[in-house]
This record gives sequence, C-alpha cells and structure tokens, in this order.
Amino acid sequence: MSASRVHGPDAPTPSRWNSPHVGAYGASHVSVGPWSLKFLWSLELGVWSFRAVALAVVFALAHPGLAADTWKAGVAKAVITPEKPVWLAGYGSKRAPEGKLHDLWMKALALEDAHGRRAVLVTSDFQGIPKAMCDRTCEKLRRRFGLARDQVMLTYSHNHCGPRLTEDLHDYYPVEAEQEALVDEYTALMEAKIVETVGAALAKLAPASLRIGEGRATFAVNRRNNKEAEMADLLSKGAPLKGPVDHAVPVMTVTASNGRLLAILFGYACHPTTLSFTQWCGDYPGFAQIALEKNHPGAAAMFINTCGGDQNPLPRRRVELCERYGQMLAEGVENALKQMDVGQTLLSGQESRRNGSARQECLAYKPVSPSLRTAFEFAALAYEKVVTREELQAELQHKHAIHARWAARMLKKLDAGEKFAASYPYPVHAWRLGGELLFIGMGGETVVDYALRFKKEFGPGTWVCGYADDLVAYIPSRRVWEEGGYEGGPHLYEYGRPAFRWAGDVEERIVECVRRLVKKIGRASSGEKQ
Ligand SMILES: [Zn+2]
Repeated sequence: MSASRVHGPDAPTPSRWNSPHVGAYGASHVSVGPWSLKFLWSLELGVWSFRAVALAVVFALAHPGLAADTWKAGVAKAVITPEKPVWLAGYGSKRAPEGKLHDLWMKALALEDAHGRRAVLVTSDFQGIPKAMCDRTCEKLRRRFGLARDQVMLTYSHNHCGPRLTEDLHDYYPVEAEQEALVDEYTALMEAKIVETVGAALAKLAPASLRIGEGRATFAVNRRNNKEAEMADLLSKGAPLKGPVDHAVPVMTVTASNGRLLAILFGYACHPTTLSFTQWCGDYPGFAQIALEKNHPGAAAMFINTCGGDQNPLPRRRVELCERYGQMLAEGVENALKQMDVGQTLLSGQESRRNGSARQECLAYKPVSPSLRTAFEFAALAYEKVVTREELQAELQHKHAIHARWAARMLKKLDAGEKFAASYPYPVHAWRLGGELLFIGMGGETVVDYALRFKKEFGPGTWVCGYADDLVAYIPSRRVWEEGGYEGGPHLYEYGRPAFRWAGDVEERIVECVRRLVKKIGRASSGEKQ
C-alpha cells in the first residue's frame, strides 16, 4: 500500500504406520467365527502383512539411517490472471484493468519429510488474501487432503497490479453491483484454484533435496524515513538513506533426485508498489520470477514478501524501474545459487582451493535435513479501543469516502446485533525444516523491525515472512507504533477492522506467540534430525 494517507495503502498427515489398513487387520485378532476358508486365508495373509509392517517399523526405528532419509517435494503452478474485468487492488480507488504486461501466478510447494510429515506453502501474485477466503480455503484443504492449519501457509506478494478479492480492503472501492459480483465470482474461482494447485503439488511428491542460501538486493527503501519526492536528489548526491531496511534475499532450492531444479523459493522485504497503473503484472516480484524461470527452465520461481510493511521500491512508477528491480532481485538470487553450488562442491570434497571466510560463507549454505515440524496459533492482538456507534456516526460525514463507507458498513453490523471483538485473531506460523531452517510466517503487513528482531534472536537460517494467511492490516513494531504515522497510527479502518489502532503491546503479543511456537517445534541444532 502506498504511504499516502489520502490514497491509502496501497489431521496431521496420517502416519504411514497408522493406516486404516493395518488397523483393520489388527482388530481381526478378536474373533473369527464361522467364516469361509478363503476369508480366513485372506485374514491370515493380513496378519502376516501386519507382522511384516510391524517388523519394518521396529527395524526402521532401530536403523534410522536406513529409512527413506530424504525429503519429498512436489511443485505446481497455475495462472490466476482474471479473464473478466475485476478491478486492480490497492491504492484506495477504482482501477479497471487495461490488458496485461504478463500473467499472474499462484504456485504451490508441497513438502514431506522422512517421517511422512507434510506442509504446503502457496505463493501468489495477489495483493492480499482476506481472512474469510483464507479460512474457507484452509478448511477445504483440511477436508480434501487432511492438512491441518499448521501445515498450510498461504502467502501473497502484496502486488498492487493484482486483482481484488472479496472483503480484501473492503471499503477501498466505490460499490458497483456488477463489480461486486465479478469479484465474488473471481474469489470463488481462486479458492478452487488454490485447492486444485495444492492437490497437483501433493500428487507430484517425489524424493528431493533442499538447500538454503542468501543473496542481497538493495532497492528497498525505508519509506517512513526517506521521502519519495526527495529520493532522486538523495541518490544523485550519494546521500545515505535513513531508517532500518532488510536487504537480505533468502533462498531455498528444491532439487529432484535426478538433479533437476524444481523450485527456487526466495524472499525480499519490500512493497510491490513500483507501478500504480492498470495493467496486470506481478510488479518487481513478477519480473524477478520471470527472469529466474527463464534462467532455470522447468523450475518454479516462488516469491515471498518477507517484512516489507514499511519498505518501498524507490524511485518508482515506471515500468523500466520495475523491471530493473525485478532483475536486481533475480541477480541477488543467482548470486546465492552460485555460493550454494560452491558450498556443495566444497562439502563433497571436489573443491579445496577456497580458503578463509569465502570458504566458510559457502559452507554455511547447507543442505536441509529431512525433518519437518510445524506449529500455528492465532495470537489475540488487542485493539487500543473498539470503535463506538457514536464515532461511526460521526465518520459517516468524513470527507474521505473510505471512512464513510467503512462507518456505514460497521453501523449495519451493529444494527444486525453484532458485537465487535476487542482483539483480532492474528495468524502466526513456525515451521522447522531440519536443523537449518526456521520459517516464521505472520499475517498482514509486518514492518521490517520484526524480521531484524527475529533473525537476531533465532540466528542464521531464519526466514521471517509477513503477508501470510490474511492481510489483517499494518503490523507495527513498538517503535513504529510509538512514532505513529501511516503504518503505526490510527488506520485499521482501512482494513475493515472495528477500531482505529492496535494496542501498544502489539509487538509484545506477537513476540510471545512466536517464541511459544518456536519452543513447540524445537530449536534443533544444525544437522540434527527431529
Ligand atoms: Zn501495503
């Protein structure tokens, strides 16, 4: 979302040893009765099958090194470019589409560890997934594939050249009946598309290896501390920019057992708001993904917006800048891939020329051990104060349409007998992949302080992702909350929350929740199997 106030923001996997098949034969010991010989024979075979499975379990537990000691991975992708004229999302105004620069995508990565534990990550070129859509889709994934909430993370790049979805930034746009119907139709299609794409990724699960690395890209600017209008001047003078940034480009590769690269997952902390025009495209993450998929044919490039709530790509507003930022990000990823390749040859003993810190740096990019732990929680994020009927009535007269539309909708809810909750169920994920990667996923527009804080606290191999599950609102740190302004001040109404502002303990509540989840999944040391 743009920094401008007026225009606004822009069943756990069934264990392989616990299948109904084995359970049924186990129960057959109880009573046989006067059944046919053929049935008794099949039963006998069943008992032997059970014994064989039980022996295999005992053997596998006694010899963990001999079990299928590998990840399985499956990747699937689908085009999500609207075929009908759904408006573009964000910026607080009506933006009807006028063609496309390139297609929009959703991509799913399914992972299964050596113990059969699964998780699915979905990345997309959506601007924001609304809570109702996220909840409905997770429920469908649970029913269809037995995936619990802790096993599914839906993410969106926050692309402002992506389409509207029902209830995302609900009051941002003028209400036109025909458009509402189109957005509802598109949203339902996308829920089905996520389920279909996840199903396709799960169906492709096959032995694979994972590696992590890290590159850098420097185009993200802290937009709270550097004015967009002054950027050209600052850059031409070579003046240092102000405010915290996170220029890391975390990378994870997924490689099939035949050596074919299946997926390149990468992240960056920055708003995809280079462009504000009305053609479909994925903004800088879209260009980065296209460049990487061109460099690595057959691999899916998957982007995650890490904690870019207060970061903008500056200067901006021109397609060539957008393409250049995409290229810079892709180069950051490519540099990481090169380091990872060197690390691999060093580990395999095929290369010994490198010495000192360069060698250590490359060796830091280790393969990820095939164990997976996932945890999820809704943290209760308290509002500073729930909005009252009187305040809403006053808002009806507000000169900005977003205020008035929000107030009218909230008043309707009160009239229907709804009571506003004092807090928001804020989605927080923690996934542990081997001892090498801790993946933290948080809802909404987390500011960069969260990434810097958690990376410092949990150490190397920590990915801190915002824009997971649902768009929620801006999620300020305590520092940003105290400073106020667009990301820290009274703007929750823009997201349809029944309040203006978070309570001052927003960071504290999130940190407590993340620590609880990280404790739950264990702090494995590097290389440790869990
Ligand atoms: Zn935003």
